[in-house]
Amino acid sequence: MSKIIVCPSCGGHYKEKLVRCPYCGTATLEAEEKEYMGKLEDIRIDLEEYGEKAPKQINKSIVKTILIAIIVVIILAACIILPLWMSIDAKNKKVQKEKEEFLKNQGITTGMLEVTTYDM
Ligand SMILES: [Zn+2]
Repeated sequence: MSKIIVCPSCGGHYKEKLVRCPYCGTATLEAEEKEYMGKLEDIRIDLEEYGEKAPKQINKSIVKTILIAIIVVIILAACIILPLWMSIDAKNKKVQKEKEEFLKNQGITTGMLEVTTYDM
């Protein structure tokens, strides 16, 4: 039943059963897939064993998840508060500018105001 495979890398002929080309070490696509799936399965088994052996680790991961959730909430809050704060700040600056313009129109510059405050 074993097919003969021609290595796409070096052209060597070898049996399908072999995972890799005995001449150059290139793995066949099928073999590579099998190997990959096998590794995935190993990881899955490892994770299962890990979960059974270390329940405390699960608690840690829950804590981690909660921490991440809190951080996300803080970021979201910042995203809401920051634009609000900035718009208030922009408003204050606008009021300040209007004040300056008003004072300028009155013949008083802010430079003079600063000097008077320094004198105090
Ligand atoms: Zn080869």
